[in-house]
Amino acid sequence: MEQLRRRIGVMGGTFDPIHHGHLVAASEVQSVFGLHEVVFVPTGRPWQKADQEISDPEHRYLMTVVATAANPVFTVSRVDIDRPGATYTIDTLRDLHAEHPDADLFFITGADALQNILTWKDTEEIFELAHFVGVTRPGHELDTSGLPDDGVTLIEVPAMAISSTDCRTRVAAGAPVWYLVPDGVVQYINKYALYPGGDGR
Ligand code: ATP
Ligand code: MG
Repeated sequence: MEQLRRRIGVMGGTFDPIHHGHLVAASEVQSVFGLHEVVFVPTGRPWQKADQEISDPEHRYLMTVVATAANPVFTVSRVDIDRPGATYTIDTLRDLHAEHPDADLFFITGADALQNILTWKDTEEIFELAHFVGVTRPGHELDTSGLPDDGVTLIEVPAMAISSTDCRTRVAAGAPVWYLVPDGVVQYINKYALYPGGDGR
């Protein structure tokens, strides 16, 4: 009997913090594509955000672990945070391909990030290493002009108008992020006083 190739989703992100938009998108793609596993990959230093303050990679990694711990098919990889220098998706995919040479990789990305794909380096090799799954994201139109037809599938995920930027702004302003991020992530943010506001709170 022929062995079914392992199908692995790859969800890259800054995850500063991880929120329910990320988790719903990963869960939906996992179900629609019958993925055996979804690997969350917190970025090291994302080159797109080089000019922004980003939380310590260990905090972002641990929040991602806390958020995904209960799901048996969600895992977290350190490949990007352990690689020195800026994070490029091509390196993420090369590393994961080396770790799982017999698996098909599905790179999951929101509408905003999909738009940037053509500006990434080594686009051709990227599409050889993974199939891309573009997911809807409120406030961002999915525009696939210029992307290879067979390399990208678009799917609609339940709309979650949540962004990490909004979560950080809310925490800094003293507004709740309960139910926007998993409970353990709310507690993690409080424990380490991440995203402090300007009022000395
Ligand atoms: P920030 O506001 O700091 O940019 P973010 O909310 O965009 O954070 P990222 O870590 O930048 O989160 O996103 C990682 C991936 O998750 C990207 O592909 C992004 O498009 C996708 N994504 C983020 N939020 C959502 C959402 N609410 N629905 C669907 N996809 C999302
Ligand atoms: Mg973003």
